[in-house]
Amino acid sequence: MSSPAETTTYPRRVIPIAVDDSSIVASLYQSDAKIYARSVSGWFNYWRWAMVFATQLVFYGLPWLSINDRQAMLFDLASRRFYIFNLVLYPQDLIYLTGLLVISALSLFLVTAVAGRLWCGYTCPQTVYTEIFMWVERKVEGDRIARMRLDKSPWGANKIARKSAKQVVWIAIGLWTGFTFVGYFTPIRQLAGSVVSFGMGPWELFWVLFYGFATYGNAGWMREQVCKYMCPYARFQSAMFDRDTLIVTYDVERGEGRGSRPRSDTPARYHAKGLGDCIDCGLCVQVCPTGIDIRDGLQYECISCSACIDVCNGVMDKMQYPRGLIRNSTENGMAQKLTQTQMFRRVLRPRVLVYTAVLGVIVVGVLWSLLARSDFRVDVQRDRGSVARTVGQGLTENVYRLQIMNATERMQAYSIRVKGLEGGQIVPDTQVTVDAASSRWVPVRVQAPPGMTSGSHPMAFVITSQAGPPGEVIEKSVFLVPR
Ligand code: SF4
Ligand code: SF4
Repeated sequence: MSSPAETTTYPRRVIPIAVDDSSIVASLYQSDAKIYARSVSGWFNYWRWAMVFATQLVFYGLPWLSINDRQAMLFDLASRRFYIFNLVLYPQDLIYLTGLLVISALSLFLVTAVAGRLWCGYTCPQTVYTEIFMWVERKVEGDRIARMRLDKSPWGANKIARKSAKQVVWIAIGLWTGFTFVGYFTPIRQLAGSVVSFGMGPWELFWVLFYGFATYGNAGWMREQVCKYMCPYARFQSAMFDRDTLIVTYDVERGEGRGSRPRSDTPARYHAKGLGDCIDCGLCVQVCPTGIDIRDGLQYECISCSACIDVCNGVMDKMQYPRGLIRNSTENGMAQKLTQTQMFRRVLRPRVLVYTAVLGVIVVGVLWSLLARSDFRVDVQRDRGSVARTVGQGLTENVYRLQIMNATERMQAYSIRVKGLEGGQIVPDTQVTVDAASSRWVPVRVQAPPGMTSGSHPMAFVITSQAGPPGEVIEKSVFLVPR
């Protein structure tokens, strides 16, 4: 039978669209329901909090440590010097930072291949700050049910007081985090002084507010949305997964069919009713910070925080069933009913061995290069203001500028000579000193005897450290002889 729309006559060039009463207008955007994660206790929760304390102790504490009368960890962008405990690095040492990034990325790949989203569940800043912000929320507004009631209740003195108190604490944590972050790039004690005296520079203020706002927004408001929609790692990590990667899994065979039953029911009795070990209490969904049901199988939203394992183990204890209905396992482990030892044996598989080998080579390479690195660096530039010229007694003279960067914490003396240029010598000074952890531009005049052919002659500067650890840096350059 034709619908009314099909029998309608339309003017030419108008494309008819069939519409009937059953049409549904669907929006491409659906707002996510707010998640009221329930508090949980247990072994994995303990480890999650241990990691919160460990990571935050390092993050908030490190900039306050001092060594050699300076901040131990400081990326001083203004003076283009990076201090990492006893190491003083210059922009020329950026290769080490690159090495560190490559090591971090490969470590993440390795951990992901072996243990899934361990990083996401325990050490990712988004997880850690969300955990802290949720703790504040629970302390101020109560646990899941209390928070749901509070949100549904009309605005009154109690609701305003609780919501405001939560916001104040959240903002304070955000600002403290922003302040600490900036304290890695500008001396933190100086920064604290300028905060107290309202004398912060515009860029410092901007970054404190920016990073503080990012922390507040991501951990207070966006939470799981960051993991679900913004985090690129969540998107490509599945490429590192295989059937032997550790994941949080629900034992379907043991758990289904799910349903409630009296606690007194013996396994034989509830199995006879077609029930498995899952009592369908829904607690695993209530504690999930991303609001998913792990019983539906592995989902990309799962950050492997193991909160569902903790809560389900508690339920199993109460029901006097064996623990582990939800547990850390592998796809092969579940399918082939492997023991923990059998699963452990599968850790050393080709993909893991390749990641480990590449990681090992890069770690050794970076360490070796750090240990073998000279305690000073030199940059050579030809003096643009002074071209090659002939001076007294027919000597040819070229002028250069040498930047000597002292990467030690003591004043150093250096001697400079040229090599590869027959009869070439430096006038007048061949000795320079450079202050501790400083760099200095030194003008150097090189003179060569008459009779050299015109054109460019390769040569090199040899800079030798006089005191402290001996060292020699050779920098190539050219000597120009005019026609
Ligand atoms: S917590 Fe355990 S028993 Fe409760 S619904 Fe989840 S899987 Fe089933
Ligand atoms: S499903 Fe379990 S492990 Fe995954 S995010 Fe939710 S609570 Fe955490």
